[in-house]
Amino acid sequence: MRAIADLVSSGDLHGKRVLVRSDLNVPLDGSTITDDGRIRASVPTIRQLSEAGARVVVCAHLGRPKGAPEDRYSLRPVAARLGELLGRHVVFATDTVGDSARAAVEGAQDGDVVLLENLRFNPGETSKDVAERTEFAKQLASLADAYVSDGFGVVHRKQASVYDVARLLPAAVGGLVQAEVEVLRRLTEDPQRPYAVVLGGAKVSDKLAVIDSLLNTADRLLVGGGMVFTFFKAQGYEVGRSLLEEDQVEAVKGYLDQAKELGVEIVLPVDIVAATEFSAEADHEVVPAGAIPADRMGLDIGPESAVLFAEKLADAKTVFWNGPMGAFEMDPYAAGTAAVAKALVEVTGKGALTVVGGGDSAAAVRQLGFEDDQFVHISTGGGASLEYLEGKQLPGLAVLDETD
Ligand code: ADP
Ligand code: MG
Repeated sequence: MRAIADLVSSGDLHGKRVLVRSDLNVPLDGSTITDDGRIRASVPTIRQLSEAGARVVVCAHLGRPKGAPEDRYSLRPVAARLGELLGRHVVFATDTVGDSARAAVEGAQDGDVVLLENLRFNPGETSKDVAERTEFAKQLASLADAYVSDGFGVVHRKQASVYDVARLLPAAVGGLVQAEVEVLRRLTEDPQRPYAVVLGGAKVSDKLAVIDSLLNTADRLLVGGGMVFTFFKAQGYEVGRSLLEEDQVEAVKGYLDQAKELGVEIVLPVDIVAATEFSAEADHEVVPAGAIPADRMGLDIGPESAVLFAEKLADAKTVFWNGPMGAFEMDPYAAGTAAVAKALVEVTGKGALTVVGGGDSAAAVRQLGFEDDQFVHISTGGGASLEYLEGKQLPGLAVLDETD
């Protein structure tokens, strides 16, 4: 895999157009960016290329438009924020590979930065049809002389701007992707023990898949968030109206047996904050894990569980955390997530390797007032890091090896 450093040192980037795939998929409230973490993380690679004299053409996606332009998914607000962070003007193209994009790239001087409009406004970007994807990749490739893959949040996707374009241009891996992979490697190859994994969040079925492989590497698995109710059900508890993946209950029973056999400690909450509605104003109370009333839903781990989880993290040398412990966006259900974040900060201070993965998890720690540097690493890619830990091949990385 060619590193970006080689690209920068190998020759003169002056006059060269470099297409950079970044992950700028930030949460928006209208046109206000509510967490700019992914933009910040993308800045070093863009700056490095710009300072080396390249004409930097950045491409990225935002949200899930259906292959056609939609105002609310425009990257325009991102261009403005990227410009502020870079300390230089970012030219925004109002299409991805059309007249505006071509004009912006043609007009670019050495060191200039252009941001193309949302890749996913084009059906070719995410198409399952190889010919359609290749066609779009060719249009992207025609805008540049070299390609840098720096969108870690999408490296597990076989998409035009991630996979196909890397086969059409001289390609290199960006510093962000490199750093992310380096940290994940430390989690999978001989991690320092005890190694604790905390799982939570709402994408339950996605995340259950990772447990299988984690049971072979981790010493302790702490489960909270929306996932936990499938575990409760597997233990025969009633879960009321809580998030539940009924069809995964059997799989979870299997994981619990497997954990016992492998000597992996599974830590489940002992109490739950149960509310009448998914709302900050709803009536809510702390109930024992096995006694969630039929008309209530669990929206956070309870205070005793928060203490228990903190204890189970206190001596860890390695921690991977993916998924909030509760519906942290609403104040009454944020305490469990805050407690886990605090426990991670404390072990980081004692020298542990702490990694936070997942878009909402990263947003949660920032919203709760923690700083990025209180953890060893905050990953920009939840899905990508989970797939890496599952041992899956990530197309966006594999293609860079292929074109060595
Ligand atoms: P990440 O982006 O970190 O991978 P997910 O997308 O899986 O995390 O889940 C984040 C969401 O999970 C948050 O919006 C949070 O409100 C929600 N969540 C956490 N716990 C619960 C729960 N008990 N019930 C419903 N939603 C929950
Ligand atoms: Mg999420």
